Amino acid sequence: MMEAKRLELVERIQNLKKEKRAIILAHNYQRPEVQDVADYVGDSIELSRRAMAEEEARIIVFSAVDFMAQTAAILNPNKKVLIPSLGARCPMAQMLPAENVKFWKRKHPNTPVVLYVNTLAEAKAECDICCTSANALKIVSSLNADTILFGPDHNLAWYVQQKTGKKIISIPERGFCPTHLLFLKEDILLLKEEYANATVAVHPECTPDVQSTADFIGSTSQICRFAKESPAEKLIIGTEVGILHRLKTENPSKDFIPVYNGAICPNMKRNTLELIYLALKEERYPINVPDNVADRARRSLDKMFEIT
Ligand code: SF4
Repeated sequence: MMEAKRLELVERIQNLKKEKRAIILAHNYQRPEVQDVADYVGDSIELSRRAMAEEEARIIVFSAVDFMAQTAAILNPNKKVLIPSLGARCPMAQMLPAENVKFWKRKHPNTPVVLYVNTLAEAKAECDICCTSANALKIVSSLNADTILFGPDHNLAWYVQQKTGKKIISIPERGFCPTHLLFLKEDILLLKEEYANATVAVHPECTPDVQSTADFIGSTSQICRFAKESPAEKLIIGTEVGILHRLKTENPSKDFIPVYNGAICPNMKRNTLELIYLALKEERYPINVPDNVADRARRSLDKMFEIT
């Protein structure tokens, strides 16, 4: 985008924000220019909690994918939550419809169901408690059960099983994030040879093979915190490349090397400055979660907040 056009759009967005008492929340994987115009950049739960703290805001533009905007709407029933692009849908969340959760519950009665926040509201409404990639270990460890139904990410389920020692049944059997499957152990080993002193940080949605090469495994926000606190000057990063913008902004003196430059979530990247401007101008596209679903999904989220 031409610089003059970008600046004009940014100015219009800032004016509309003031006029409409709106805030813009952007996920760590958003385009750099979207992150720069946002009031807050973070992971999905951090952003939803931030929205709860913004008492003056009437409108929240949630620049991310569908399930994240839904979570913000569930946690902020008195605010209007807008998603800039209706097409920004997380394929992993689509892999576990509510009917599928019910099926697994019937198959394993009396087994607690923990669902990653990367699920749609209807699925969250069917579970016992939600978790994020940052708190999954704490949530699962807190449950008084040795066997847990956990979904939809099979790699995160594997990670939780290794770290907690509990039996984790993945639902569905092989749910995955297509973007995090793009990372290969071999690529990381080559990068480690090339950058001898670099530290490797990856997301638990990566395969067990990839996780085995890492010095640090964590959520996007945990990776950002780790990058700040680690003495390492060079870090090899195994998650969606949008995070590099935040990492570089927060740590200008450090080098960040993506495991794979092509690890781009096309759904996250659907949100553009133009669409954010239109979202504010036309108050589109509002997220509506039916009350009976929202109430049950909120209960699963609240249980998570009680523990964390
Ligand atoms: S990066 Fe993966 S989990 Fe996140 S929104 Fe994209 S497809 Fe979904």
